[in-house]
Amino acid sequence: MIDETGSSPLVVLGAGPGGYAAAFMAADLGLQVTLIDEEENPGGVCLYRGCIPSKTLLHAVGVLEDARRAARWGMEFSEPRLDLEKLRGFRDEVVTRLTGGLGQLARQRSVGYLRGRASFADARTLKVAKPDGGEETLAFGKAILATGSRPASLPGLSLESPRLWDASAALALREIPESLLVVGGGYIGLEMGSVYAALGSRVTVVEMTAGLLPGVDRDLVSPLARRLEKLFLAIRLNTRVVSLEEEAGGIRAQFEGGGELDAGAVYQAVLVSVGRKPNSDLPGLEKTRVELDRRGFIKVDERRRTADPDIFAIGDVAGEPMLAHKATHEGRVAAEVIAGRKVAFEPRAVPAIVFTDPEVAWCGLTETGAREQGRTVKVARFPWAASGRALTLDRPDGVTKLVLDPASGQVLGMGVVGSGAGELISEGVLAVEMGALAADVMLSIHPHPTLSETIMEAAEAFLGESTHIYRKRG
Ligand code: NAD
Repeated sequence: MIDETGSSPLVVLGAGPGGYAAAFMAADLGLQVTLIDEEENPGGVCLYRGCIPSKTLLHAVGVLEDARRAARWGMEFSEPRLDLEKLRGFRDEVVTRLTGGLGQLARQRSVGYLRGRASFADARTLKVAKPDGGEETLAFGKAILATGSRPASLPGLSLESPRLWDASAALALREIPESLLVVGGGYIGLEMGSVYAALGSRVTVVEMTAGLLPGVDRDLVSPLARRLEKLFLAIRLNTRVVSLEEEAGGIRAQFEGGGELDAGAVYQAVLVSVGRKPNSDLPGLEKTRVELDRRGFIKVDERRRTADPDIFAIGDVAGEPMLAHKATHEGRVAAEVIAGRKVAFEPRAVPAIVFTDPEVAWCGLTETGAREQGRTVKVARFPWAASGRALTLDRPDGVTKLVLDPASGQVLGMGVVGSGAGELISEGVLAVEMGALAADVMLSIHPHPTLSETIMEAAEAFLGESTHIYRKRG
């Protein structure tokens, strides 16, 4: 369908970092766009119930941790007095400011924002049920599905209880339970487990695989695991929860590990963080030609086009990794394709960050990935114990590593564990995307004293010329 300006109206369904970036880009490229979401403003799970509130809380508890650490340097503070209402207020202020700003950016671009829940009336028409009970029908020329994902639940365990939390309930910060069981030692479990442990909960993490953050290079996980072993009451690996039952004072959880079943324990709250699943069960989607894969993700090509040529899909609903910045990039690509540009989604490096203390970050080819592909790589590491900046911060518990092609010295990937690792990883993304060689990184002067020097020194280590690592000649 063509509108009066001669262009086909574009509908973007879902206003998270993928959807709003797609809508804004499309508007900037001259398309007429309507963005649909149930929330009052754009932002999606990331801004309302994910990345932003969790990072606000992680920052706050990081300050607590720094204050405790400062005793080592002769600066002692009295025990902090927690005002949860104020902390929640700070979190909400950040979220409101950002989402309100996005609403304003949508209006400035003349992106139509329709609040409601959409379903497909037919392959080219959406029906939107509005919060006031009304309904709007929208015919579109092209659509971008950016409906995101939702927390997966524990298979076979169907307890309904206010003590049983998903990530949103954990972020609500209604109370600080004395004891918290975290099921799943991935991103959410470790980030939110860290928040509650710092605020005083006794946290137990159960993880069904043999290590925290499965899939991440072990040398990056180890320094974090060592710290979390101190922060948490217990970390139980190779363990599954087999039953959850509410009883007076909490939820009794029973565990199975190594074929053994134990009597379990009672926890005041249980956070289930065992992954997320795509929101691809859109009512009426069967009226389109959109296809799903085995795991329920919408199938897309490199232009993010689905099996229905007028419908695109981006972000969590279109496949792993389920990360906001990947969704944003895909959204911009889809908008450009719809506007007629010849582009594709083909990143060499999608960075990932776990915002714990220390942070863990990686991009491009990992050592684990290289092993799985049977690809020979050279890994160059620079330990932070040799970094002046790390010592001034009293944080020598870090490592920066580069994954390189042994023959050409091309940077294929980067990994970092350490305080602020998340801010360092972008240099690795740039190096991988630009096909930089170790020599390029080494010969780019890095400012002193900074943690970014550890990247340069890792490149120097690969070339056998690191200033701060002694290597015997010959
Ligand atoms: P995850 O995939 O990171 O971790 C889930 C963990 O649960 C895994 O370690 C898995 O082995 C374990 N697990 C699965 N079933 C289990 C069971 N029955 N018993 C015990 N352990 C079990 O998932 P998540 O932490 O729920 O996060 C979901 C997604 O949200 C992530 O994949 C990520 O894409 C996104 N996220 C990203 C960030 C970030 O970028 N910092 C933060 C939070 C969430």
